[in-house]
Amino acid sequence: MALVTSKSARLFEEARRLMPGGVSSPVRAMRSVGREYPLFLARGAGGEVWDADGNRYVDWVQSWGPLIAGHAHPDVVAAVTAAAGRGTSFGAPTELELELARAVCAAVPSLEQVRFVSSGTEAVMSAVRLARAHTGRAKLLKFAGGYHGHADALLAQAGSGLATLGIPSSPGVPAAVAADTLVCEYNDLAAVRAIAERHGDDLAAVIVEPVAGNMGVVPAEPGFLEGLRTVCNGTGALLVMDEVITGFRVGYGGGQERLAVRADLTCLGKIVGGGLPAAAFGGRADVMGRLAPEGDVYQAGTLSGNPLAMAAGLATLEILRAPGAYDKLEATAGALETALRRPGVTVNRVGAMLTAFFHPGPVRSFADAAGSDTARFARFHAHMLARGVYIAPSQFEALMPSLAHMPDQVEQTAAAAAEFSE
Ligand code: PMP
Repeated sequence: MALVTSKSARLFEEARRLMPGGVSSPVRAMRSVGREYPLFLARGAGGEVWDADGNRYVDWVQSWGPLIAGHAHPDVVAAVTAAAGRGTSFGAPTELELELARAVCAAVPSLEQVRFVSSGTEAVMSAVRLARAHTGRAKLLKFAGGYHGHADALLAQAGSGLATLGIPSSPGVPAAVAADTLVCEYNDLAAVRAIAERHGDDLAAVIVEPVAGNMGVVPAEPGFLEGLRTVCNGTGALLVMDEVITGFRVGYGGGQERLAVRADLTCLGKIVGGGLPAAAFGGRADVMGRLAPEGDVYQAGTLSGNPLAMAAGLATLEILRAPGAYDKLEATAGALETALRRPGVTVNRVGAMLTAFFHPGPVRSFADAAGSDTARFARFHAHMLARGVYIAPSQFEALMPSLAHMPDQVEQTAAAAAEFSE
């Protein structure tokens, strides 16, 4: 089954001349599944998208997570349209922003105060600055395979051999900056304790996704997050939960509610902006109170709290508060999990986020995930696309079921997956 995608190919030719790699964000180029050009998407409705050539796909990417209500949900479109008619940006406080702050703080119990920003990267970068200011310390601990946006301090990977200091994972990140970022394997509490022993007095924050989503989905094992909480209590470091994916996805109160742990600072993104550019960070009032203008830690943004994005976020949260919403997500995600399970494939799922690893399993760390058969995944991706099923073009991403996905879309996915034999 060959897809006709000549318009995407043509558009990409020009895009490559005008934009590096033809894209605004690297993974979109679909290179990691070996495609020569990505699909240009033209339209979405509910659980489906159409490309520039008019091909229809069941969409399990959903803009990488924000669209938990599906594409162009009428309530979200109406809220954004109404807000746009009143003015697209003020750079001044608005009532919409206050309403979303109220909703977000009510949803996540550890959030006493919140500040809105425009991307997950910005949320994490700001939370890190705040944690460093609050503790008067410089070092961070993150986990291999964790992604927290592209700010310098978070683009660090594990140093080699006995060195525990991070090294830059991209040119342009100064070695001195990366050296303040320590890296452990996810779910390896013994390694975290060893780092705490050695660097505890210098540790400003431990930053973690409560369910890892950027090495593919890897759940925190029982005791891991609690262990991080204890290490933070012992060292005085702040526990920063990056809930940019998990927030409002694995439960209305995110990973913290589902897994019963409490962060000092929390980063939110994606769903909180309902598909428009908004993100947030928040937490303990005594820590958040250090932010300017209340305190002395600088952080700002022209479009922060943008009224269109606040309206989209509010409408999306309201949809999620409808009775049964999370039961429906769980049911769709569970059916999708069953659809993807096959010999030699390990499906990790927590609520409405899941990954089918081409790996016999178990997959409990980045080292495990990295052992997946990515060439086979690339063949699977092409196979699914040719059958009208669009999944993220990388083994190390999550499928994102939404409230808009219908049983027939899960069935189409199951039928396509069952035909894959390579
Ligand atoms: N943190 C996590 C856990 C993420 O998954 C992402 C993006 N996928 C980010 C931070 C960065 O968010 P953004 O792309 O909005 O900058």
